[in-house]
Amino acid sequence: MPHWGYLILAGVVILVAVLLGRTIFFRSRRYTVEPLPGIKIDVERAAKRLSGAVQIPTITAPDPEKADRAPFEKFIRYLEQAFPAAHKALEREIVNNYSLLYRWKGSGGELKPALLMAHIDVVPVEEGTEQHWQHPPFGGEVAEGFVWGRGTMDVKNQIILILEAVELLLAEGYTPERDFYLAFGHDEEVRGDDGAVKIAELLQSRGISLEYVLDEGGAATLGAMPGVERPIAAVGIAEKGYADVKITAEGEAGHSSMPPKHTAAGLIGKAVVQLEKRQRPARISPYLKEMLAYVGPEMGFGLRLILANLWLFGPLFTAVFKANRAGNALLRTTTAVTVLEGGKVPNVLPRKAGAVINFRIAPGETVDGLLAHIRKVVGDKIKVEPLIATEPSRISPVESTGFKAIERAVYATFPQSAAVPYIVMGGTDAIRYEQICDQIYRFTPMLISTEDLERIHGTNERLSLENIELGVRFYLELIKGE
Ligand SMILES: [Zn+2]
Repeated sequence: MPHWGYLILAGVVILVAVLLGRTIFFRSRRYTVEPLPGIKIDVERAAKRLSGAVQIPTITAPDPEKADRAPFEKFIRYLEQAFPAAHKALEREIVNNYSLLYRWKGSGGELKPALLMAHIDVVPVEEGTEQHWQHPPFGGEVAEGFVWGRGTMDVKNQIILILEAVELLLAEGYTPERDFYLAFGHDEEVRGDDGAVKIAELLQSRGISLEYVLDEGGAATLGAMPGVERPIAAVGIAEKGYADVKITAEGEAGHSSMPPKHTAAGLIGKAVVQLEKRQRPARISPYLKEMLAYVGPEMGFGLRLILANLWLFGPLFTAVFKANRAGNALLRTTTAVTVLEGGKVPNVLPRKAGAVINFRIAPGETVDGLLAHIRKVVGDKIKVEPLIATEPSRISPVESTGFKAIERAVYATFPQSAAVPYIVMGGTDAIRYEQICDQIYRFTPMLISTEDLERIHGTNERLSLENIELGVRFYLELIKGE
């Protein structure tokens, strides 16, 4: 063998050694937590309290003027009756008529307060699906080991389970060291302008800055990640931005027998094709790297080898992930053409045509950057206007008091799962607290399957009694165990 042959051989041996070495030392971040000594959870009582909450139909209306506010007033009174001890011990304020802010005063000291969040409003039941519910959506029936109804997973469960945990701790005379705030907005499902925004402004006006915020978000989900056997407890450290962008083209009107090269409808068609083709770049961003560092070690050898060596396999990983819808959404700002408008008459040139494209903006990108991209792709003959646009959230750290407290509570409650930071694709109220907090997380403590995720905003939403117990336990561990 000529001597360059030995050099190549040596190179290959070193490469394999490096790859294997990195794979072997790519260690799981899971750890074991000793749960707090027994506080007895009364599951039946908590289930009854959740059932009562579900029976008050606090349905959001897209137009706040048209919303029926009576159920929201009733809900506030319901909580007072259902949780008398919490209402006696905690300060409560009604913010902007229907949202709630509680303060559980800590024993003092230097610690900054924490904020536990949820929302009071629920989405309506889609017309025509009522008969598919095994139990009526606002009946709050407790049957077959579940509490059934709208809001049992999104997210009256969180309101009830947080208050349940607080009452159990009050009953044993416990006072947390830091202040705990509880904030329940009333319009999360229509973006939170009247609820969470007003609560955050109120806290800010009082000069309060928060150590961490925990809102709804990922759950401990079985089958969430191909190749991972255990449930993934997905703790959102960021959320995507949102933009509906309208593009409009104008053309000559008139008869279609002697058309120009492109009609207005043709120009829009061309623009739409280009926008689908030239999407925002797919990349392994810092938050995705963080997530992969947590989830990678839980995977089989082949995937672990790839994830431990992204310096080499990055492009391969990106190509594979891009081919999968969920993977693609993690890698980039997504582009979905949702509305097309053009002419109405087959033999008349449309004077105007348009389309609306829905973008979910990846953290690290901006609305302005997206609009500049769209203008570049569609060219200057086409008008571009954002209808709604919100920036993506900041990315919260994982090396932080808040993440560590949540991670600890996850392992104390769901010891079989792996806590993994991830990015929430939809919006939550949590982003509204960015002015007063750098550690914002999104996790709903329940152990479910991927099929169960369809119940959220869907049919047969329900929460098992087991999950009620786990949920209360999670908040006990979070508040007391830190
Ligand atoms: Zn929700």
